[in-house]
Amino acid sequence: MTAPPLILTLDMHGVPHRWVTWQHACFYYAKNQVAWAIGDANFTFRGGMNRCTGERSWITTNSIIAIKGKALASKSLFQVPPLDNRELFHRDRHICAYCGNEFSTQRLTRDHVVPVSQGGDDIWMNVVTACRSCNQHKSGRTPEQAEMQLLYAPYVPNKAEYLILCNRQILHDQMDFLARHVPQHSRTKRRKVSSETR
Ligand SMILES: [Zn+2]
Repeated sequence: MTAPPLILTLDMHGVPHRWVTWQHACFYYAKNQVAWAIGDANFTFRGGMNRCTGERSWITTNSIIAIKGKALASKSLFQVPPLDNRELFHRDRHICAYCGNEFSTQRLTRDHVVPVSQGGDDIWMNVVTACRSCNQHKSGRTPEQAEMQLLYAPYVPNKAEYLILCNRQILHDQMDFLARHVPQHSRTKRRKVSSETR
């Protein structure tokens, strides 16, 4: 059995905010903090039994909901998402930036284009996905020093892209919505919705 999907929350302007569990979404509904909903899917969950009436309560949440003003912390679409190997490898589609081959997560590493030992930072703009052997070969050198060609450029994923990267079970309507907020240069843009998401 697969876990219930996460619910995509937006701010009042329709800017993607974060994933929440359906329980959390129901909490927003119960507190009357859902401004509007635009997803294609609705999920109904059983609540507790009412002691007086003996009836069970039900609550329905949409797959994409906008949360009223103060319920959301003011985090913008352009906030830099935290750097994490899992999301980094997804950003780079599991392709080594040096040999161009695709690898499984276990065989990939985070390569600092300008090595930390040479003053390079541990930030999205200075890291790419590299297979173990390419990383070993490059060692503490820049691509120029190692005479290795960088096959693609690093970039900072925006919020919408980050939301795509960090959820493996995105529903179709949620993916469509987020994809519209992803910049053209993004490699995520070309990622297909996998069959496991349906
Ligand atoms: Zn490689």
